[in-house]
Amino acid sequence: MSRQTHPWGVPPWSVDFRPAPGPLPDRVDFAIVGGGFTGLCAAAWLARLAPKKSVLVLEASALGEGASGRTGGLALEDTAAGPLPGLGDVLAGYQKILRTLRIDSGLELPGVYELGRADPAKDSPICWSDSGDLKVVRTVPGGAVDPGKVVAGLARAAEKAGAHIIEHAEVQAIESSDPPCLRVRRNGRGRVQQKNIRASQILLAVNAFSLELSGLRGSTQPKLTLAMATAPLSRAQLQAIGLSSRRPFYTVDLPYLWGRLLDSNGMVFGAGLVPAPTTIASLFGKPARKRSPRYAAPDLYRFDVREGEAAESFRWLEDRVHHLHPALASVRITHRWAGPILFTEGMRPVFRRHPRSKNVAVLAGYNGHGVALSVYLGQWAAEVLLDCRSLPTWG
Ligand SMILES: Cc1cc2nc3c(=O)[nH]c(=O)nc-3n(C[C@H](O)[C@H](O)[C@H](O)COP(=O)(O)OP(=O)(O)OC[C@H]3O[C@@H](n4cnc5c(N)ncnc54)[C@H](O)[C@@H]3O)c2cc1C
Repeated sequence: MSRQTHPWGVPPWSVDFRPAPGPLPDRVDFAIVGGGFTGLCAAAWLARLAPKKSVLVLEASALGEGASGRTGGLALEDTAAGPLPGLGDVLAGYQKILRTLRIDSGLELPGVYELGRADPAKDSPICWSDSGDLKVVRTVPGGAVDPGKVVAGLARAAEKAGAHIIEHAEVQAIESSDPPCLRVRRNGRGRVQQKNIRASQILLAVNAFSLELSGLRGSTQPKLTLAMATAPLSRAQLQAIGLSSRRPFYTVDLPYLWGRLLDSNGMVFGAGLVPAPTTIASLFGKPARKRSPRYAAPDLYRFDVREGEAAESFRWLEDRVHHLHPALASVRITHRWAGPILFTEGMRPVFRRHPRSKNVAVLAGYNGHGVALSVYLGQWAAEVLLDCRSLPTWG
C-alpha cells in the first residue's frame, strides 16, 4: 500500500529510514513484534545492552504506519491515568533515551497549555470560541517532537546496534512451545513467504492491532482518532491566536481538541474518535474466513477515513478550526489523517506477561498518551526481557 494512497490519509512528516534487506532467520534470542515507538525503542535498547544476542523486529506494515508515525507528537509527562509507581520522570527519561541513542527528534519542551471552558487563568494568552470560550487553565510540563524523526531515529539506532528489522512481516500466531515459535507471513516484492521462527523471548508491541495475539481482545477498546494540519501560519496569525510561545495544547473538558505547531508554522489539530472496525481480516487484504480468528488483526487498514462517519468527523473538526478565531477563518487544511489508539481499563498501560506464555511480554495501551511513555517503557521492556528488571506492579 503506497503511503500517498493510504486509506488513513497522510500526516505532514515522513519516516526517512528503510531497514537493510535480509532473510527471515530460523531462530533468534529476542523477537519484537511491532515497529512503532515501543518496539523500536525496545529493540535498540536490547541490542545495545546485549550485543551478542540476536534481536529481530517484525513489522506487519511499514515502520511507523501504526500510531507512531500518525501521532500528534505531544510529549507529555506520566500516563493517561496520571503518575504510576516506578515510572519516575517520564519526560526526563524520554530525553535521556533520545540523547543516548543520538536521535535528532526535534524535541522541544516549552510546556503544554491545558485549555478549558471554565476556570481560566487570569492572564490566558488564548481566547478561542469552541462551544464556549476556550482559554488556558494552566501550563504543564511537555512539548512536541517530530514523530517521523523519532521512528526513523529509533530504527536507525536499533539497526546500528545490531538488531535486524523486517517490514511487511506479520506475526499471525505464536505457539507457546519452549521456546515459543512465531508463525510469520512476509509479503515482499510480490512474493509471500510463510516461516516459523523460534525466539527465546518475545515482546508484543502491537498496540491497537492484533488484539487476539496480545490477549487484549475484550479488555481493551481500539479506536481511530483524527488529525489535520494547516498551511503555515504567519507570525501575525500566531500572535493573534495566542500561540507565539509555540506551546502545544489540549483541552481538559469536552469537546476535546488538541494541537501543536510544526517547524513550518503549520498547525496540527486533532479531535474525535471513530470506532475501529471489528471485522477480522488480513492487514494485506486476504478474506477474513481464510485466517485464524484467534490471532488475526482487526481490519483497521481497510477503513477509509475519507468516507462515512470519519469523513463527517473531519468536516466537523475543520469547521471548529475555522471558527476558533477570526485569524483562522480561512486557513487552508493541507493534511488529514487518522491513527489507532488503544483504550484500556482505568486508562493504564498494559505491561505484563502474556497469559499463555511466560516467555512473551505485552506492552501496549497508552490511551493517546504514548509519545514519551512508549519509548520510556520500551527501554524498561528491554530490561525485562534481559531479566535485569521486574515488570511494574500496575501493568
Ligand atoms: C492521531 C493520533 C494522535 C496522537 N497524539 C498523541 C500525542 O499528541 N501525545 C501522545 O503522548 N500520544 C499520542 N498518541 C498516541 C501515541 O501515538 C501512541 O501511544 C504510540 O505511538 C504507540 O506506539 P506503539 O509503538 O506502542 O504502537 P504503534 O505505533 O501502533 O505500533 C504498533 C505496530 O505493530 C504493528 N503490528 C501490529 N500487529 C502486528 C503483527 N501481528 N505482526 C507484526 N506487526 C504488527 C503495527 O503495524 C504497528 O506498526 C496519538 C495517537 C494517534 C493515533
